Amino acid sequence: MRRKVVVSFSLIILLGIYFQYVTSAHGASGCEQAGWGFPLDTIIVNSSFNPASHFGVDYKAADGDNVSAVADGVVLKNGFNLKKLNKPDSRSGLMIKGWGRYIVLKHNDGSTTLYAHLVDDSTAHLKEGDLLTKGATIGRADSTGGVTGPHLHFEYAPDGKWWLKLSKKDPHPCVLGCNPEDILTITGSDETTRNSTKQYTATGCPGTVTWGISGKGAITSTGLLTTGSTACGTIAITANCSQCGTSVTKKVRVTDAGYWNGGSQRDYCGTEFSARNCDSYYFRWNEQIMDGELWYQQWVILPETSPCSCIAFDYFCSPILPYTPHCFTQNNPQCNPLPQGWHSCEVIYNEGKIPWACP
Ligand SMILES: [Zn+2]
Repeated sequence: MRRKVVVSFSLIILLGIYFQYVTSAHGASGCEQAGWGFPLDTIIVNSSFNPASHFGVDYKAADGDNVSAVADGVVLKNGFNLKKLNKPDSRSGLMIKGWGRYIVLKHNDGSTTLYAHLVDDSTAHLKEGDLLTKGATIGRADSTGGVTGPHLHFEYAPDGKWWLKLSKKDPHPCVLGCNPEDILTITGSDETTRNSTKQYTATGCPGTVTWGISGKGAITSTGLLTTGSTACGTIAITANCSQCGTSVTKKVRVTDAGYWNGGSQRDYCGTEFSARNCDSYYFRWNEQIMDGELWYQQWVILPETSPCSCIAFDYFCSPILPYTPHCFTQNNPQCNPLPQGWHSCEVIYNEGKIPWACP
């Protein structure tokens, strides 16, 4: 069934409504907070967006298929575009190029969508300035313009500059209900212990998130991480959002067994210094045997005149290794020869006799 919702207003009323729309905008992008509908009843991608060569997505359509507004919007343009070429178009192979009959809608967030290759007279009911609601009929899909067969060429300009190739972004994530501004994120603790549970949540996916894990532990479909008695080192948990094709991994340290980077790769453990507010700094590193044990010395070398300072932070190894941190604000004789104008932070610690690999 075709729904047709066309509302016309006098210019003054329209301006009033449009002003309200603008003031309630969500920002320059975000595809209406991913609340789009489908521009066609069935979404099958014929040809994807390409920022270098194809500035929209082509959806498969049959002649006469209903094309709908993906969100509330004002008709900016009801146009026809076709030009002859001197040589065949690189994509279609045709000697013509263009959108054919096309409609541009401007949405509440300032973005625009463009619907191209429509049946020429199917948009006759639309005038520039008409207000369309989400799902309203724009026209029918056909093959006007430079095309080799019927499809809907669909474009999205988050900043509303629908005529500018550089402004175009892939509309397909929005059609799928994914907001390209959303970043898939896992929230939850960076640490856990053996024989315990920790809850993790993922945001930035409108669909179902599936969880994966590598390391000694298990994670449920709702993001509950469970560790047993053999857990150690680092566990990596992954959230996958298949709807948007995104995934993210978070590392979780098991603080009461092994070392969180484990294996043969020696990692820093204990307290370490780094630099804050620095234009430049560098590390020095030294190993030495003291009292039959291997000790590590590390310096962070800072420019003396810059406002930067040393910061110390723990890596939460367990058990906490013996260490003796010092922070020098003047030239440290152990660092000599230091370039003039630099000072250092220093930390000395040892690994003791604890193995680095997981037990
Ligand atoms: Zn196209």
